[in-house]
Amino acid sequence: MPAETQDAYIETDFEIVIGLEVHSQLLTKSKMFCTCSTGYANAAPNTHVCPVCMGMPGVLPVINRQAIAYTIMTALALNCNIPAYSKFDRKNYPYPDLMKGYQISQYDIPLSKDGYLPIEHNGQTRKIGITRVHLEEDTARLLHHDSYSLIDVNRSGTPLMEIVSEPDMRSPEEARLYMQKLREILVYLGVSSGRMEEGSLRCDANISIRPRGQQELGVKTEIKNMNSFRSVERALEYEAQRQIAMARAGETIHQETRGWVETRGITVPQRSKEQAHDYRYFPEPDLPPLLISPAWVEELRAALPELPDARLARYRSEFGLSAQDANVLTEEKALGDYFEQVMAASNVSDSKARAKAASNWLLSEVVRLLKANAITIQSCPLSPASLANLLDLLDKGRINGTQAKEVLDEAFATGELPAAIVEKRGLKPPISDQGELNRVIEGVITNNPKSVNDYRAGKINALQYLVGQVMKQTRGQAKAEIVQKLLKAQLDEAPST
Ligand SMILES: [Zn+2]
Repeated sequence: MPAETQDAYIETDFEIVIGLEVHSQLLTKSKMFCTCSTGYANAAPNTHVCPVCMGMPGVLPVINRQAIAYTIMTALALNCNIPAYSKFDRKNYPYPDLMKGYQISQYDIPLSKDGYLPIEHNGQTRKIGITRVHLEEDTARLLHHDSYSLIDVNRSGTPLMEIVSEPDMRSPEEARLYMQKLREILVYLGVSSGRMEEGSLRCDANISIRPRGQQELGVKTEIKNMNSFRSVERALEYEAQRQIAMARAGETIHQETRGWVETRGITVPQRSKEQAHDYRYFPEPDLPPLLISPAWVEELRAALPELPDARLARYRSEFGLSAQDANVLTEEKALGDYFEQVMAASNVSDSKARAKAASNWLLSEVVRLLKANAITIQSCPLSPASLANLLDLLDKGRINGTQAKEVLDEAFATGELPAAIVEKRGLKPPISDQGELNRVIEGVITNNPKSVNDYRAGKINALQYLVGQVMKQTRGQAKAEIVQKLLKAQLDEAPST
């Protein structure tokens, strides 16, 4: 958010209140209540279906244990309590994307509740309350045409985890930060692909405003159709300003569902928001209640992978990385994984120096090449071992920084090992022998009397010209600052006669 917008919120006499409902498809192999594969991404419509997910009468659903495990893992990572007893319920509503006429979800006894997620904002840690994490099933996809709609049931029955936050966020920026942090955790846990643009991770937002100091919540609207972090923030900024303008004009804000229209940058009314009683929830009679043993919960807790905050702290303590570098490396799990593979491939005595170099080269040069080629770190043609090899060559003084960048470009393009490229190109190590360098400098001084005289007459530019001549003769194998030092020493100590 631009600073001036942020200030406008602070100055305003209204407080913004935001809560998010995040839906994530789970990365299970099969669907929630049947054995159909969830790998339908590139499949023809209605090819990953069976009587259960088609909602045929008389079929019996069977609970996917892995989906329960993933939901509990997420709940644990979000500091939630896991009750020993939970159940599924039927959520009834007549909409064609629900083949059965109801969705199997969880109503009053979800798999978990009462957690929190800390986020960093303006240098402060804010705890955002997590109301509950529960499990349900995804719906079919409707494909709307001019005069008719088609339905693809492939998606129907995919395990869908819902993470509901408390209305604890106070700005659109906080909502975005919460969403980003949550996505990081889901990806680290390996339960979600985290792809908002593909709809496997979705976010609905409840937003209201209230006069500053008032405890009671205002009338909220629910915003849908936000498919990127940026659109979450933009949609909420728009909606907050819309509500504030209405309140100032003395108009009444109605509880409703509104859709974000990315191309126009506005929210538009979709339908009046249902109340929970409209859904007529009742316990799902075809599924047994869930009895979650504390021993299983502890087993899952013990097996949780390292989460972003812990990894960040470790990168700072173990590798001595700056807060900023550690942050960038942990934000995208795959980038951190790559960094660790470079470290694992490095056999060095000073691991902190290597970590700093690896982080620098990864975050500047390698990321630059990835962007230029529009590929992700997961499909980086330069292996972590190759980057480690390049850093070895630099450490040993076999090549200098300028040469290393060229070698990196070639290694990235061809997949060849940097050592092989250095060999093939016949690259020479930079000249560090002062005697050799001084001989070149003497030659340059002899052959450029005018520039030498200019320098001695006080023209600083002449020195740069002479440095350039030495660099040219050494073909970039010498360090400019060393050349300048030695050149200056020669010029200053022995005036020619
Ligand atoms: Zn099925």
